[in-house]
Formats: sequence, C-alpha cells, structure tokens
Amino acid sequence: MAKILIIGAGGVSNVVTKKCARLTNVFTEIVLASRTKSKCDAIAAEIGGNRIKTEQVDADYAENVIALIKKYTPDIVLNIALPYQDLAIMDACLATKTHYLDTANYEPKDVAKFEYSWQWAYKKRFEDAGIMALLGCGFDPGVTGVFTAYAAKHYFDEIHYLDIIDCNAGDHGKAFATNFNPEINIREITQRGRYWENGEWKETDPLSVHKPVSYPEVGPKESYLLFHEELESLVKNFPTLKRARFWMTFGQEYLTHLRVMENIGITGIKPIKFQGHDIVPIEFLKALLPEPGSLGENYTGTTSIGCQIRGVKDGKEVTYFIWNNCKHQDAYNDVQGQGVAYTTGVPAMIGALLMATGKWMKPGVWNVEDFNPDPFLEVLGEYGLPWHEELNKPLEFEK
Ligand code: NDP
Repeated sequence: MAKILIIGAGGVSNVVTKKCARLTNVFTEIVLASRTKSKCDAIAAEIGGNRIKTEQVDADYAENVIALIKKYTPDIVLNIALPYQDLAIMDACLATKTHYLDTANYEPKDVAKFEYSWQWAYKKRFEDAGIMALLGCGFDPGVTGVFTAYAAKHYFDEIHYLDIIDCNAGDHGKAFATNFNPEINIREITQRGRYWENGEWKETDPLSVHKPVSYPEVGPKESYLLFHEELESLVKNFPTLKRARFWMTFGQEYLTHLRVMENIGITGIKPIKFQGHDIVPIEFLKALLPEPGSLGENYTGTTSIGCQIRGVKDGKEVTYFIWNNCKHQDAYNDVQGQGVAYTTGVPAMIGALLMATGKWMKPGVWNVEDFNPDPFLEVLGEYGLPWHEELNKPLEFEK
C-alpha cells in the first residue's frame, strides 16, 4: 500500500524499522538510509530476508535526499535521524512531492534552541504541493499531544491546566548514559526551564523547579520542570489552556554527572581548538558515551509518561489522567531496544500507518493533536504501548 524511506539508524530507528517491517500489507517497500550504512545493514540483517533495502545518505544536504527519493519513489519519508536534518529533509520532500514525518522539531546545530517556527513556516508550501508533514510523532512530543487531544475531545468542554509528567524508572547499569541521542538530550535539559501561564511563557533557571510526583506503578520521584517542545504546539492548538507544564524525573547520580560535565565545559556546543583541530565538546562527549540503542539488553524497570488535564465539563470541574507504562525488558523482547527508544518508535510507526491508510492525511504541516486522536489510541496498545485513564484523582503534587 505504501513505500517508505526511513532516514537514521540509531536506537529509535531500530524500533521504527522493525515495527514497520511487520506490517507487510501496509508498508510494501522499506528503504533504510543513514549516514553510516553498516548500522542500516545491521538492522536489516536482524529483520532478515530481503524486506529492507539499505543506503548511505548524508541528510544534511537536501540534494542527497532528493536523489534517494528519486531512486526509490517512496510515498512517505520518516525522518528518524536528528533534529538538525529536519529542514533539509522537508526541502527534499517538497521538491519531490513526498509526505514527511518526524519525531523532534528542528534545531540549528550552533544554537541550542528548538522551536516549531522553522517547520511551521513550510505549511503553505506543503499545502500547495498537496503533501503532508506530521511533526513530532514520538511519545513526547507525540503521544502526549494525542492524549491531550483525546481528553479535550471526550472529557472536557474546555481544558485549563495541563501537566505532562515523564518518568524513566529504569536502570541500565551504566554510571552515566542518555536514553536517546546524547547531544540532543543534553542540549534539551541544560536549557532554561519554561512553562505557559496566563497567556505568556515564564522562564526558570535550568532544573531549579522540582517536586515529587507519584507515577503509576513507580511511586514518588523527584520531577523537574523543563521546557519541552509539545508545550509550544499544545498552547497554540488549545488556546483555553491557562497553564501548561512539563516535568521529567532525573536521579541524583545523573544530575551530579551532568553538573560536573557542564562545569568542566564538555557539554559546550561551540568548537574549541584541540591539537590544531576544531572539536565540538558535546560531539566528543557523545563519542565517549554508550550508544542509546545499546542499552536494552540489561535494562530493568519501566518508563511512565502521562498527561494530567484539568478543566470543565457541563459546568463541573474535572481532572483526567491518561498514561502509559513501558517496561524496558518488554521493549527488548519485542525489538531488542530499550523503553525510551520503544516509546518513541512505536508512535512514529503508527503515525506512518495512519498516513498510509488515509486516516490522518491532509496537505500542510501538522502536529499530532491536529488529527482525530481515536484511531491512534485504538491501536497504540495493540502495537505495544497499552494506555490507561483515571478520572478525578488529582496527582499528589497538586495538593
Ligand atoms: P541516535 O543518535 O541513536 O541515532 C541517530 C541516527 O541518525 C544515527 O543513525 C545517525 O547516524 C543518523 N544521522 C545523524 N546525522 C545524520 C545525517 N546527517 N544524515 C543521515 N543520518 C544521520 O538517536 P536516537 O535514535 O536516540 O534519536 C532519533 C531521533 O528521535 C532524534 O531526533 C531524537 O531527538 C528523537 N527522539 C524523540 C523522542 C520523542 O518522544 N518524540 C524521544 C527520543 C528521541 P550515525 O550512526 O552515523 O551517527
């Protein structure tokens, strides 16, 4: 039914590619391309047969992606590489009239700043070309937007307060490792915090606001207020929101390592001279850290991510909580990945499935909450991420 080109061959792509490969009736041809072809070949070999074709591509340059699209004529390009490649891949999709999907919004390499403005600016051009871009279709962003849209559709007349809570209560047995690309991860959490309140963004010092939050099947964990990209689209798409915040757990060990690394400058993104060469400290750090995709085998514990929404229905105040827990070992047993890659990759596969089957298809550039959440949540459990909901039991930290 649909031919797809997947770009990137890291931890998340391992999940997306394996999950897509199983849907033989939907994804009739799959090409996997990345900067390092051997990583594509390794994923393809694990899938077996001739199901996956592999290619080398440097997706920093639109012309390389255009050449690949012309060679294979995919219907959809799944960008599972890094946020730095978003615009080049979108340009290639425009030039070839091919649909586009990603899991993280664009950020320039030389400024640690991520926002939707760059990609939303493509909306008219995508509409005119009759093609669709689905932005941020992982878990957060991604499922958190679907959860919010589902709540707004079924449980509220107006939603007023949104708290997204994200806990990784897992243990990978390493002194320090990040669960997705270390560069992107560290750039995200060392930024100033930001949340939406009464029509404006409020800023906080990095990781300075924190509270214990009690997560389902996990219990209380110290959770830190961060800016996360779905807040930007959700406050735009749900203008009744009076406040929107994002919270993430970090262990003390992780924070201590991070503080030391920041203090010695190894998380820096500006090049420094080293023995006559320019090196970017955070890129060097990435080379030292474990590959996120390699953490799965001995990873124990679970992730727990959900949205608490408060608002009104028929004049009454309502609190609604919707969440998923994902065990790292379940992810490993399914696709030899870890929970964070799994919770990102499964939703990306579902986004492509809904596009391919026409359930989510309209020209333009969209976030997940722009679409009907029902068909997404109907299959989320079936593909490995069962979700749960609860009414009128506010999270502890509200009290
Ligand atoms: P990895 O670092 O494991 O993998 C990234 C892959 O992209 C690597 O295979 C890398 O190639 C490839 N790549 C990098 N640059 C290029 C390029 N110029 N051309 C072609 N390929 C390139 O990252 P993850 O798998 O952990 O993350 C993938 C994406 O998922 C990221 O954008 C991340 O932000 C996003 N994400 C989204 C989440 C969500 O919930 N929405 C959660 C977690 C992650 P090489 O092997 O040569 O380095």
